Amino acid sequence: MSINIWIVVAGDPAVGNLIDTARSLGGQVCAAVVGSRVVADTVAAGGVDKVVWFGEPGKAPVEAFATAAADVIEATPGVVLGASRASDRVLLGAVAARLQAPVLTAPSSVSAEGDTLVVTRSIFSGIAEETVTVSGPVAVVLDGGPIPVANPAGGSALMEEVSAVTLGMTVVETHSSDFEQVDLGAAPRVVGIGRGLKAPGDLAMIEALAKASRSEVACSRPLAEGLDWLHKDRYIGVSGQHIAPEVYFAIGISGQLQHMVGVRGATTIVAINSDPNALVFTEADYCLVGDLYSIVPALTDALR
Ligand SMILES: Cc1cc2nc3c(=O)[nH]c(=O)nc-3n(C[C@H](O)[C@H](O)[C@H](O)COP(=O)(O)OP(=O)(O)OC[C@H]3O[C@@H](n4cnc5c(N)ncnc54)[C@H](O)[C@@H]3O)c2cc1C
Repeated sequence: MSINIWIVVAGDPAVGNLIDTARSLGGQVCAAVVGSRVVADTVAAGGVDKVVWFGEPGKAPVEAFATAAADVIEATPGVVLGASRASDRVLLGAVAARLQAPVLTAPSSVSAEGDTLVVTRSIFSGIAEETVTVSGPVAVVLDGGPIPVANPAGGSALMEEVSAVTLGMTVVETHSSDFEQVDLGAAPRVVGIGRGLKAPGDLAMIEALAKASRSEVACSRPLAEGLDWLHKDRYIGVSGQHIAPEVYFAIGISGQLQHMVGVRGATTIVAINSDPNALVFTEADYCLVGDLYSIVPALTDALR
């Protein structure tokens, strides 16, 4: 027995990791694509067996295609994979609801034993790992990975075009958000700040360090949720971003587990804290004990 795999795509063809994962599970791999023909063709050439293309969303929101996609998937149900991006998560979640499938997020590994899916993922802020087995339909949210590379020798997958009923949903207005989006995951250096900073005006000092070290600025949760000094996209930790920069500066951050689990992938951690017993020093490679208001300007000058 093997598992049928579906990949749900909501406009972005960067699903290389989903295709690799699907292939490792051994069954037939199909993709349900909402988006342009170019997206459908890219996925089709990227190593799946079949693409069901629902067309461009036009003025309909992507979730308007969920019923149509779920109806197609239901004919050969199994594991439904989706990328961990906003539109893909929305579509996958709506498809999962329609299929009455549980949704598993952030797995560290996905494998198959016969027709049972085995998923491991970390729990309790990363201090433990659980293994979940599912033998019915299930949706899994994964890192999408890169755009799949077309096999120059291989042909494209079978393409089936479906005109979906979009339930009369129409996007009537869109506004661009007023915050600057940042890809912390791709930043080689990140300056993280915490409640050791006394006032929002002190961010200028941090920006200067970030500029001198060519870093992005991030923070602990209280600065983004509560104090609102930085946008929620910028906080690091179990409920925020997980990053793996070459260097992470932890400035005025105590180093609670819920924060540090988000920087476990960092190559080097430089911590600045006035408390010599701060937890952050147990995980730092360089420990600067002292007042951040003296150390940060000195470090900035040295880096310049
Ligand atoms: C369910 C749950 C989920 C959570 N998820 C997250 C998460 O994803 N991310 C996250 O960050 N937090 C998260 N938290 C909160 C987390 O537990 C901590 O409360 C938070 O990380 C603390 O933020 P902080 O280090 O900025 O502040 P504090 O713990 O208040 O630390 C401030 C530090 O600044 C130092 N300091 C003060 N003045 C100076 C100075 N002048 N110079 C140098 N150092 C100074 C202090 O010694 C102290 O160590 C979560 C909590 C819960 C319960």
